[in-house]
Amino acid sequence: MAPVEIARRGLMLILSSPSGAGKTTLTRTLIEQKELELQLSISVTTRARRPSEVGDVHYHFIEKDQFLFRRDRGDLLEWAEVHGNFYGTPRQPVEKALSEGRDMVFDIDWQGTQQIVEKMREDVVTVFILPPSLAELRNRLDRRAEDAADVIAKRLDNARTEIARWEAYDYVLINDDLNQAFNQLVAILTAERLKRQRRIGLEAYVDHLLGER
Ligand code: 5GP
Repeated sequence: MAPVEIARRGLMLILSSPSGAGKTTLTRTLIEQKELELQLSISVTTRARRPSEVGDVHYHFIEKDQFLFRRDRGDLLEWAEVHGNFYGTPRQPVEKALSEGRDMVFDIDWQGTQQIVEKMREDVVTVFILPPSLAELRNRLDRRAEDAADVIAKRLDNARTEIARWEAYDYVLINDDLNQAFNQLVAILTAERLKRQRRIGLEAYVDHLLGER
């Protein structure tokens, strides 16, 4: 136990990828590992709920007028239109977590990532997840079988545009093996948590260390 307390600012771990690259599974796995102490940012969306989804767990599903009201009131840290639906990150839970030194995970697209990076660069770690191939991406979307055929086609169309955004991210993972991608994410998190700039009290700790006899 350190004789001087070393605290840390909370960080925002943002994961982006085209639909079907495994980002949602990876996000869920991170949250389920309680020892990682990560909290998921639950977005608001105007998209219809998928059969496997639970309101207020996967998303807060809301109507478009409610979305626009919340956006215009400044309740959203970022927002974007993706595949014809609106998505946004509620601001309040994020501000609370960060001020308490807790870390949050975000499953958001490149437009939202850009907005958060512009506002809060120092607190943000961004990871882009690439699929092993476009054929595999299509397979995964088909296998999921939760979206209509035209929705899948639209998502595949958008995948190319989304993939083109990879260069704006701090880290890039190729998810051909879920376990490996997960381990890589944990490695990123561990290293980012140890960053000097995020840690409060290190100076006092080192002073104390040097004062030891
Ligand atoms: P899906 O409809 O498959 O759940 O999500 C579609 C896309 O919207 C995904 O790329 C997902 O990361 C993104 N998304 C989900 N929530 C948000 C959000 O709050 N803000 C932004 N900008 N994108 C989001």
